[in-house]
Formats: sequence, structure tokens, C-alpha cells
Amino acid sequence: MSEMGYELFVGGEWRQAASGETFGVTNPATGETVATLPDGGGADMRRAIEAAARVQREWGRTTAGERAGILSEAASLVRGRAGHLARVMTLEQGKPLAQSEGEVVYAASCLDRFAEEARRVRGETMPADSPDKRIFLLKRPVGVAAAVTPWNFPASSVILKVGAAFAAGCAMVVKPSELAPLSALELARAFEDAGLPKGALSVVTGMDPADLSSAMMEDRRVRKLSFTGSTEVGKLLMKQSADTVKRLSLELGGHAPFIVFEDADVEEAVEDVVSSKMRNAGQTCISANRIFVHREIEDEFSRRLVQRMEGMEVGDGLLEGVEVGPLIEPAAVEKVERHVEDARQKGAAVALGGRRIEGRGNFYGPTVLRDADDSMLVAHEETFGPVAAIMPFDTEEEVIRRANDTNYGLAAYYFTRDVGRVFRLAEELEYGILGANDGLPATDQTPSGGLKESGFGREGGRHGVEEYLDIKCLSLGGTSGKRRA
Ligand code: NAD
Repeated sequence: MSEMGYELFVGGEWRQAASGETFGVTNPATGETVATLPDGGGADMRRAIEAAARVQREWGRTTAGERAGILSEAASLVRGRAGHLARVMTLEQGKPLAQSEGEVVYAASCLDRFAEEARRVRGETMPADSPDKRIFLLKRPVGVAAAVTPWNFPASSVILKVGAAFAAGCAMVVKPSELAPLSALELARAFEDAGLPKGALSVVTGMDPADLSSAMMEDRRVRKLSFTGSTEVGKLLMKQSADTVKRLSLELGGHAPFIVFEDADVEEAVEDVVSSKMRNAGQTCISANRIFVHREIEDEFSRRLVQRMEGMEVGDGLLEGVEVGPLIEPAAVEKVERHVEDARQKGAAVALGGRRIEGRGNFYGPTVLRDADDSMLVAHEETFGPVAAIMPFDTEEEVIRRANDTNYGLAAYYFTRDVGRVFRLAEELEYGILGANDGLPATDQTPSGGLKESGFGREGGRHGVEEYLDIKCLSLGGTSGKRRA
């Protein structure tokens, strides 16, 4: 196929990088270059921030209805272009076409939700201590916001930031991942066509993330950073944000426990673990990473899981029937190999798969490990691949302790029919997203985000918009009419 060509979207104009340099985006299923685009750097990002700062005051003064109109129009355009957007996403990122379509439709529903939430931003009043005063809390946009996004959800990770920023009245500059930057540019086109004022959104792509993000971090006019990506880079940006005291939202890595109790519906739990584990070939922040199964049902659960996963079609996400796509890059396949080899050496049994698929593209076969334990790498790091590591347990107390024994705190799942246990675990598990008998808990109205080193701040719905609003407290004196009489 012929390569696609893209430009940067800076201050409402499509342009080449200041340096004139370009870089290529590789299809992880074939190793082919699918697009060439500008290799933007600090100079391009500074130009984008300049444009955002210029439009911020005017944009922040638009009515909620005007901004909601643009968000809704962008939602319909994204929906109308879903086929094209999904294809671009699969080409740059690898996920099967149906999953790309699902992500695009989800992104559109988030935009619709943000359009509604824009109209629901409310201040407060509260009783004052003096009859001569009234107190009002005003909500105001924080100002120019910056977004740094990952490759694994190239559309929804952008929309969760841009949609919330626009609902609140903030202009935004976006730095997408260099591995999958095309969807962000396609979304910028949709906003442009929806009538967004020039400068309210810029998307700057480039090969050197540190150069692009330091332009964001050093600039005092950027008042907020929303980052989604690894905990390691999140910590770095957190440190860099200190000099200009930016507000932060950090959506970082996860290491989700998926707990199946002895009273669970095993068939349902197997279906949900497959959705959670195999979506995006295991490359999601909320992917089930440690599958704790009660010893009484471990045999039945493992057999059913192997049966369910052995028939899964692995291949190029553009092909009909493919359920598991490639991993993003060769290094990702090597990491999965390292995790599986480590588990094997420490005593885990490979019940399915356990090897890469040779040939073109970065493919690893669906894998089930039995008898995994807490000494293994799979128990401590995100595997980010199609590996289901089953860890038997005996008691509720024990599994809560083991599930919490990590610095991450993003998503946790558990399956049980005991309603008391549903609440006990909701209170005890140190995670921001909980799925009780539910392997796919993320929706456009719910706030998602982590605890501990999975970050802070929430994305999605009303709580997502709050991240882009400052509270100002107005105390109005002289209200009794007596003081100055
Ligand atoms: P990453 O941290 O490598 O990259 C994320 C972004 O940071 C990219 O845009 C990248 O270009 C940029 N970046 C990389 N190095 C940088 C540097 N030195 N300075 C400034 N920016 C830099 O993460 P990734 O591999 O793209 O994404 C996978 C990670 O993201 C996983 O850990 C996953 O769990 C996490 N994630 C979290 C959520 C969530 O909602 N919590 C959602 C999706 C992904």
C-alpha cells in the first residue's frame, strides 16, 4: 500500500516541522512504513503554546453551549469517519479492526458526554460567618493545558484529555506517542471541521519526546499537564512540573489482579478474563496481569481458559476474523519472552503457547501459565502481552494481601457471588477502578484513574472535567447594606 502523508496541526494551520525533518510510522503487523510525518521539536511546540496562549482568554469566555456544540459536532464527525479512523489506528498500532472501531465509537461517546458535562459545570454558594458577607465559589478554566499520550489507545487517550479540556474552556497542546501519532492528527482534523477556533488545539508529532515535552514543562503559560503512559515517565514529568508548579493528572501503569473465588461463575469469569487479558493483545493499562484463582477451582478454570484461548486467531488486525494483533514493537515481544522464560525457570507450567510467532511482524502466541507465584517477573511488572499467568490461592485474607502487594493501584477485578465479599474487597483492594463480576468496567461516564504509583487525577465524565477547572473563592462584603451606612 502507498504511504500516507501527514502534517503537524499548529495554531489552526497544517504545516511541516520547523526543522524540515520527517519520520516514519511502522505497521507492527508487517514492519512496513505506513506514513511519513513531520519530526516536530521544541520550536514547533513553543509555536503551538504561543497560539494556545493567544486564544485562551477568548476560548475561556465562550459559553458552555458554544463549546458543547463544537464537541457534539466533533463527535458526529468522528462517528461518521469511524471506518477510516479505525483503519488508520490498526495500521499504526496493530489492534484488530473491530477493536479499533470500538475505540473510535467510544471516543465519540466520550465527546458527547463532555458536551453534556460542559453545560453542568456549577459553582457553589455557602453561608458566610457575617451577615455583611456572601460567599461564592467560581469554577474557571485552569488555562492552557498540555497532553502527553501513549500508543496503546491512540484515539481515546487523546479524547479523554481534549474533550475534558474543551468542556472546561481550556486550550490544549497535544504530544501523541511517536509510535502511533496518526489518530491524534485525524482527530485534530475532525475538530477543525467542527469549527474549533484556531489555536485552541494543536497536535505536534516528533521522534524526540523529551525535546517536545520539555518545551511544555518549561513554559509558565502551560498551567496543567495531563499525562497517560508509564509510571517511569510520569515520575520524570512530575519532577519537571515542579519548577512552574503545574497542575497534574497522571494516568500511569497498572498491574491488575483478577481474582476468582471458589463461589464464582467460572464460565463467566473465563469469558471476562479473556476480554480483559486479550484486548489489544494484553497491551492495556487495566489488563488482568495476575490471575488469582481459588485452589478448589483452579483446575477447571485453567482447562476452560486454555480451551477458550487456543482457538484465538492471531494476525494482522486488518484481516477478517483476527482477534489478537501484534505487539507494538520488537522490544515488546522480547519483554514478554523474558517474563515467560523467567516464570518457566521458577516453576510455572506452560499450559498454552509460550513462544513468539516467527515471520513478519511482532507476534506472540496466546499463552497460559499455571502455578505462577509471587517470585516471578509476571507478578511484579506489567507484562503488556497476551500472557495469562494463573496464581492459585487459598483464603480471602491471603489474596487481598497478595493483590495489594504492588506499587501499582489502577484496576482490580474479582468474581464472587457473595455480596458481603463484594463490599469487603471494594474497601480493602487498593485500586481506583474495581470490576466485581465485570471484566470491562470502563465507560464514558465513569471516572477512571489510579491510586499509589498508578497516578492521580481522574479521566472521563464530570470528574474528568473537574481536572481542568480551578476553584476561585469570592467573598462579597457589604451585603447587609449597614456597614457603610
Ligand atoms: P511511555 O511512558 O513510554 O510513553 C507515554 C508518552 O510519554 C508518549 O507520548 C511518549 O512519547 C512520552 N515520553 C516517553 N519518554 C519521555 C520522556 N523522557 N520525556 C517526556 N515524554 C516522554 O508509555 P507507553 O509505552 O506509550 O504506554 C504504555 C504505558 O502507559 C503502560 O505503562 C500503561 O500501563 C500506561 N497506560 C496507562 C493508562 C491509564 O489510564 N492509567 C492508559 C493507557 C496506558
